[in-house]
Amino acid sequence: MRRADAYIAPGATLGVLGGGQLGRMFAHAAQSAGYMVAVLEPEAHAPAAQVAPQQVCAAYDDVDALHRIARLCAAVTIEFENVPAAALQWLDDHVPLAPHAPAVAVCQDRAEEKALFARVGVPCAPHAVIADAAAAADPALAALLPGILKTARLGYDGKGQVTVREIGELADAFAALGAVRCVLERRLDLRSEISVLLARGRDGALVALPPQRNVHRDGILFASFAGDGAVDSAVAQRALDAARAVAVGLDYVGVLCVEFFVLGDGSLVANEIAPRPHNSGHHTIDSCDFSQFDLQLRALVGAPLPAPRLHSAAVMLNLLGELWFDASGARREPDWVALLALPGASLHLYGKREPRRGRKMGHVTFTASTLAQAEAAARSACHVLGLEPF
Ligand code: ADP
Ligand code: MG
Repeated sequence: MRRADAYIAPGATLGVLGGGQLGRMFAHAAQSAGYMVAVLEPEAHAPAAQVAPQQVCAAYDDVDALHRIARLCAAVTIEFENVPAAALQWLDDHVPLAPHAPAVAVCQDRAEEKALFARVGVPCAPHAVIADAAAAADPALAALLPGILKTARLGYDGKGQVTVREIGELADAFAALGAVRCVLERRLDLRSEISVLLARGRDGALVALPPQRNVHRDGILFASFAGDGAVDSAVAQRALDAARAVAVGLDYVGVLCVEFFVLGDGSLVANEIAPRPHNSGHHTIDSCDFSQFDLQLRALVGAPLPAPRLHSAAVMLNLLGELWFDASGARREPDWVALLALPGASLHLYGKREPRRGRKMGHVTFTASTLAQAEAAARSACHVLGLEPF
């Protein structure tokens, strides 16, 4: 990164690579603190482009576009980790970038992430990297089954993953994923899943949000739970320590999320890293004095990092595209009035025009003084929305 030890004052323009909902919520935080925002995003009308006065509408590796962003912006962050590594490195050399390009490069690749976990002494699932069809034919891989074959790069929301039960299925699974470099990992028996969000400044100062418990359905985050009782406190402490070790190991600057599995015996296994705010931290907008996006902003502009405080228990439910269709497949609008009548409901929609199955259209957070109260409201929300309750 170009040296940027100076604090970047309000009034400056901040760039964000990616135009999705994370960029939109970053823009909200940046604008409310007095910054201007520019978005680099190939699609017009993307969620972040709708709220940023300046959009460079081009591919992430478009040379002219990168030059424009570097000229326009006092600093740049990302909301999407799959920006081509060379483009990120170019930006890192020409404008203050947080996170740094090499840290993002690690998070772009599951094999690299797992190597990092090993380097910093954080356990992860037993796994093997499978580079080609010959490697996929290794009978010794049977020791990792039943397992999940995941593409090393570009997977999200459970995409790019195939369950493999027996060794005879592995070659087909590898071919089905496009014969690209993959990681085969053992399917673990999960007691629960949790995640840690933290922010680290350019000076190495580090603050963390309390871990939340996450429930996935079909590989997609369904709900997150935060507050007393959401995560066992000894487990939370170990997860915070492990996430800190990951951030320090990456010499990370910015907001980082580490996802963990909690196994039956209470032990922790790191799953993956997101070099940006994360869906499981969306509740922090409503439940904390400083949200994950406020922390992303603070780290980016070199402002002091506040220790965030969870002032309310919270349950967040993702709102996926299927809610916009009835049982016959006809378009409908979810019953927002009934949803908003529930106690502590905060509705966040991302401005996406086209609902599609599995597409994240928005989320709703229920805050309350206790987790039990927030859960009760979220269960009622499941009823209103026609979702299987948790
Ligand atoms: P994504 O990039 O799609 O989030 P993940 O690797 O986090 O990919 O997998 C998505 C979900 O699939 C996890 O949150 C978890 O519920 C389940 N999963 C992934 N790997 C394993 C595993 N090794 N054992 C058990 N469940 C897993
Ligand atoms: Mg994940």
